[in-house]
Amino acid sequence: PLTGTEPVEDHQITVCVRKRPLNKKELNKKEVDVISVPTKDQMIVHEPKNKVDLTKYLENQKFRFDYAFDDSCTNEIVYKYTAKPLVATIFEGGMATCFAYGQTGSGKTHTMGGDFQGKTQDCKKGIYAMAARDVFTYLRAPKYKPLNLIVSASFFEIYSGKVFDLLADKAKLRVLEDGKQQVQIVGLTEKVVDSVDEVLKLIQHGNAARTSGQTSANSNSSRSHAVFQVVVRSPGMHRVHGKFSLIDLAGNERGADTSSANRQTRMESAEINKSLLALKECIRALGMKGNNHLPFRVSKLTQVLRDSFIGDKSRTCMIAMISPAMASCEHSLNTLRYADRVK
Ligand code: ADP
Ligand code: MG
Repeated sequence: PLTGTEPVEDHQITVCVRKRPLNKKELNKKEVDVISVPTKDQMIVHEPKNKVDLTKYLENQKFRFDYAFDDSCTNEIVYKYTAKPLVATIFEGGMATCFAYGQTGSGKTHTMGGDFQGKTQDCKKGIYAMAARDVFTYLRAPKYKPLNLIVSASFFEIYSGKVFDLLADKAKLRVLEDGKQQVQIVGLTEKVVDSVDEVLKLIQHGNAARTSGQTSANSNSSRSHAVFQVVVRSPGMHRVHGKFSLIDLAGNERGADTSSANRQTRMESAEINKSLLALKECIRALGMKGNNHLPFRVSKLTQVLRDSFIGDKSRTCMIAMISPAMASCEHSLNTLRYADRVK
């Protein structure tokens, strides 16, 4: 397994998997851990041979990725191999994206947003905050300082095909596409930031807005994609120099849930399904020539990220999160199969 001392490889598309530990609730229920990470790039799903002796496993499903993080890996280690290498991209004038994919409860928000201690979130330990910290390090480095770039941040949510501003009381926003297929979210709050502390405040604010008014068992946040963006602009012209989008995706089990009797839920599920399928196609096509007919407009998610999928300077990383319990086996296999096809 990865220790954080290995060299980081440089890919245009990086696909990783992360297994979280069994939690207290699962341990109390005597849940069995069916996921193993034998090497730094492999994950195996074991299914018990029989329901009586759960310690006897069948070795069946093996998957290989750029990196596989086991349950001993910290957010810092995960960050090092996933989002960190993408910070350079935006300073070199490219677009970067990092996605957290997986079923609800698998660790997407923990990885991106940070640790929860009771009810408060320590967002310093999340990938959003670590990426922001390194953006300021680059900004002040001798190589990039002379560019006088201006850093700003936005945070929005895509729920049921609609965009809501997490930095403006969840105001509903329109998405416009001009003749040149430039996509714009009209009125999106974009706060100019000068320090990591300012960014942390925005993250905290957005996180709070995201989870307000929800019960944890059936929360909206499991049915929405949250997009945190750091934009660097050239001074004067305000031209976008580079953009880093960090995305906490809707729970992928929601996309499969099309049998609900509730029409609203069925529509939400169909929308999630569509967006996750389109996302896979758009990532796969990254770096290929003639990708104009990609399904960008099939979903709001891929539409608003359009500029991040085109251009040869674009880079992306997907972290697929895995719940280790046997009860999650089917979802874990679905997640691993999806991640397997992204690259
Ligand atoms: P998701 O956003 O995918 O629905 P969460 O990030 O909210 O899932 O994680 C569910 C629970 O598991 C949270 O209580 C979280 O703190 C915990 N958790 C997730 N990943 C880890 C991890 N790697 N180590 C320890 N706890 C974790
Ligand atoms: Mg979450």
